[in-house]
Amino acid sequence: RVPELEKASVRMKNPEQVKNIISLLRKGGAERLQVISDFDMTLTRFGFNGKRCPTSHNIIDNSRVINEEGRRKLKDLLHYYYPIEIDPYRTVEDKLPLMVEWWTKAHNLLTQQKILKSDISEMVKESDVMLRDGFNTFFDQLHQNKVPLFIFSAGVGDVLEEIIRQAGAFHPNVNVVSNYMDFDDSGVLQGFKGPLIHTYNKNNTVLKDTEYFQQLCTRTNILLLGDSMGDLSMADGVADVKNILRIGFLNDRVEEQRGKYIESYDIVLEKDETLDVANGILNFIL
Ligand code: C5P
Ligand code: MG
Repeated sequence: RVPELEKASVRMKNPEQVKNIISLLRKGGAERLQVISDFDMTLTRFGFNGKRCPTSHNIIDNSRVINEEGRRKLKDLLHYYYPIEIDPYRTVEDKLPLMVEWWTKAHNLLTQQKILKSDISEMVKESDVMLRDGFNTFFDQLHQNKVPLFIFSAGVGDVLEEIIRQAGAFHPNVNVVSNYMDFDDSGVLQGFKGPLIHTYNKNNTVLKDTEYFQQLCTRTNILLLGDSMGDLSMADGVADVKNILRIGFLNDRVEEQRGKYIESYDIVLEKDETLDVANGILNFIL
C-alpha cells in the first residue's frame, strides 16, 4: 500500500514490523503525528552528478567570504574528522570528544573571518546545496496537514534556515534546533550560541526548552529521518512515544555501514537521493 517501499534502494530488517508501524501511524492520522528530521545529508542531497553536495558548514567554508588560509584549514579539519565521524569501527564514546574538537575548531576559524549576517543569503545562492528530490511534496504535505516538523541539526541554523527559505518551504509548522551564529551589533560574526550540537549529542542534553515537545505531548506517533547513527536519539525528548518509524539514509561507506544501519533504522535507504519513501508513507498515513 506504500508502493515506494518496493524501490531498489530500500532495505528492511523486518518488513512485517514496518508495515505494522505504518498502519498504526495511519490509524493515528495527522493529529497524532510529528516528524523529527536531521538536516544535512537527510533533507539535502549527498551527491549530484557524481559530486558531493555541501553541508551547511561546507557552504560557509567554501564561500568567497573565507580567505584562502581559512578555507584550507577548514578543509583539513573536514578531511581529518569526517572519516572519524562515520567510522563504523569506533565507538560513540571514542568519537564524542573528537567531534567537540572538530566543531570547536571549525567555529573558531569561522569566527576569525569577519562573516556578516548579510552574507548568508548570497553564500547559499552561490553554493551547490540541493534539497532532496521531492522536498516540495514533503514540506507541503506536512504543512497542509498541520503536522509539526522538528529539524534537529548539528549544522549551522542560520544557513539551513536560509536554504529552506530560498526553497519557499519555511512554513509555520517548521521548528529548528541547531547551532546558531552570534552576531555583534554591526552584524559581524562573533561566535556561536550554545549549547554546541554535534553528531553524537542530538538528544535531550542540548534541548534547552522542553516546552516544544511538551506542547506536542498528544502527538505520540513519530516519523524520524536521519543519515547518521547519532540521529537515532533525536526523539529522546518526546515523553510519550507510542509508535516510531525510523528512516535512515545510508549515503557513504555503504558496504561497511549497512549492517549497523539495518539493525538500527526500520527502513534504510541506500544511495537514495530522494524523499520518495518518506513522501509515500506520508501520503498513505495522512
Ligand atoms: O544537519 P546535520 O546534523 O546532519 O549536520 C552535521 C553534519 O555536518 C555532520 O554530519 C558533519 O559531517 C558536517 N560537518 C561539516 N563541517 C563541520 C562540522 C560538521 O561539514 N565543521
Ligand atoms: Mg546529517
